[in-house]
Formats: sequence, structure tokens, C-alpha cells
Amino acid sequence: MKRILSGMRPTGKLHIGHYVGALENWVNLQKDYENFHLIADYHVLTTGLDTSNVYNDSIEMLIDWMAVGIDPLRSPMFRQSKIKAHTELHLIFSMLISVDRLQRNPTLKDQIRDLNIENLSYGHLGYPVLQAADILLYKGNFVPVGDDQLPHVEISREIARRFNNQYGAVFPEPEPLLTKFSRLAGLDGNAKMSKSLGNTILLSDDFDTIKQKIRKAVTDPQKVRKGDPGRPEVCVIYSYHQKFNPGETEEIAANCRSGALGCVDCKLRCASKINEYLAPVLDKRKELESKPEYILDCLKYGEEKASQVAENTMNEVRNNMEIG
Ligand code: ATP
Ligand code: MG
Repeated sequence: MKRILSGMRPTGKLHIGHYVGALENWVNLQKDYENFHLIADYHVLTTGLDTSNVYNDSIEMLIDWMAVGIDPLRSPMFRQSKIKAHTELHLIFSMLISVDRLQRNPTLKDQIRDLNIENLSYGHLGYPVLQAADILLYKGNFVPVGDDQLPHVEISREIARRFNNQYGAVFPEPEPLLTKFSRLAGLDGNAKMSKSLGNTILLSDDFDTIKQKIRKAVTDPQKVRKGDPGRPEVCVIYSYHQKFNPGETEEIAANCRSGALGCVDCKLRCASKINEYLAPVLDKRKELESKPEYILDCLKYGEEKASQVAENTMNEVRNNMEIG
């Protein structure tokens, strides 16, 4: 069975961008693939050295994943820092790619701009190398991600090829799997919904919170009041309708253009559709929160599974390299 590896950084509660760009795919793919899901806790260090929330955020993320439908038995979930082979393979891989290649990574350039990073760390530059180790340790064939991650999957492919040429075939060349909505825009109109930009709707938001957030969202600046003709193609709320309310998009687009539909009504309809998706997730979340021991058991199970697979791969690597 083909394998999937995908992960997220535990940097706070997940938002609907994570869901639309990746998680929804993870849930659907677990029927046909062997899925491994990584809580990328070492990767948190690339954008902040404070580790005091990492454990709690990891557990919260695990709950979010299970609340949307990841099955803990079918899809092992585990913390990167618990499987030491990630660091070993990262070290080996870091010799197989040039600094120049890593500096050309467009995702890194976006991050440096968005987060105003002045002194890039050696580890942050090497983020995609650790990610290659994350994927290839499990011999991931497919990586379901949002489109900001495509350059990283490409780097993983290059590293896999380089290793196989040098030391013999161990790794598959992983391929990305994109959803139709591989980049959900933020409430402020920014092209990416992102925790660090504070423009999110969380998976754990209730209806009131969703309504409040949507009410403040940026829409077409040319449509000031009901009656003004709007341009759905430039409106964030319309892009949410496309995802969460596909049956009504044509009517909404037409009435927005004619001016018959005002932003207040349109936003309210959008909020209730998003809430229809999130209400069951919130219920499931509450149920899981009441079973902390079960959550930890799931993590333990996932870490045992992951550790076996990772060790098998590392044995091949060590044998082929005749080192380690
Ligand atoms: P944030 O900036 O909110 O912390 P992130 O990009 O740091 O998000 P990661 O943990 O790095 O989050 O990525 C988790 C996954 O979610 C990746 O596959 C990423 O492509 C996807 N993703 C994150 N934000 C979005 C979005 N707005 N639209 C689509 N996919 C997204
Ligand atoms: Mg993140």
C-alpha cells in the first residue's frame, strides 16, 4: 500500500486554512493509503525558541486532528522529537544539498518577508532538509500539503535522488497532493490564512465567534453599501462560499454583482455555512477533551508504530552507507 506522510507544526490551534489545504485530504486519503502524521515540534524552533507551549500545543493539535476525523489506529500520529532517527537522517541529508539551493527556496523568502526575520538561523535555512528526513524516513510516496509547501517537496525529491544515486536505492521520490483549495485566504484579505498573521477562523471557534470574525472581514472595497455592485472575484467571503457553500455560489455571485445582495447578509450566510462544517468538529473536540488518557494512548501507539518504521529505514540507510 502506498504511504502518505504529512505533518504540521504545533504552534497553536488549527484554522480552516489547515483544514481546507491539508487536513480534509488526510481524512479522505486514510481509506486508500497508509498514513503517517507528524507533529513537527522541532520545526517550531525555526520561528521561535520559546518551547514552553510546544507540548500543550502538540496535544491540542492531536485533538484537532482527531476531531476532524483522523483515525488514530489507521493513521499513526507522533511527535517528531520522540523519534530520534529524524535528527540522524537530517544530518546525513544536510550533506546532500547545497546552501545555494536552500537559499533559493521561495517559501523561505515569503517567511522572511512576512515574519520580518532579520537573522536567519542555520536551522531555519535547513527546514526543508529536516522535512525531507520527516517524509523519507517513512518512505512517503505522497505528501498532502497546501501549495506553500510545494518547493519543499521538490527539495525532498532532489535529496532522495541524490541519496539513491550515491548509496543505492532506499527512498521513493515523494509527490505532493494538493486539494482544490490549496491556499485559503485570510479574513484580512491576505492571500494566506495564517496564525502568525492573525487572520484566521479556528477549527475550535463557535458560531458567535465565527460570526464576529466574519463581520469584520475585508470585502470588495468598491462595494460600500447594499445596492453597490460588488466583485466576487476579489472578495475573501466569496472564496469561503466557494468552499463551504458550493451550492449557492452562482446565485451569490450574481446578486453580489447586481447589488441585490449586501455584504451583511452575505457574511451571515457564510458564517452559518462554515459553522455547519465546524459544529460537529467542536462536539467531537469536547468529547475528546474529556478523555485525556485516551489521547495520550493514541499518541503512544502512534509513536511506537512510527518508531518501528523509522528504525527499519535507518537500518537500510546505515547498511547502504556502511556507517552508523
Ligand atoms: P500558520 O502560518 O497558520 O502557522 P503554517 O503554514 O505555519 O500555518 P504548517 O504547520 O507549516 O502551518 O502547515 C500545515 C499545513 O497546512 C501545510 O500543509 C500547509 O500548506 C497547510 N496550510 C496552512 N495554511 C494554509 C492555508 N491558508 N491554506 C491552505 N493550506 C494551508
Ligand atoms: Mg504553523
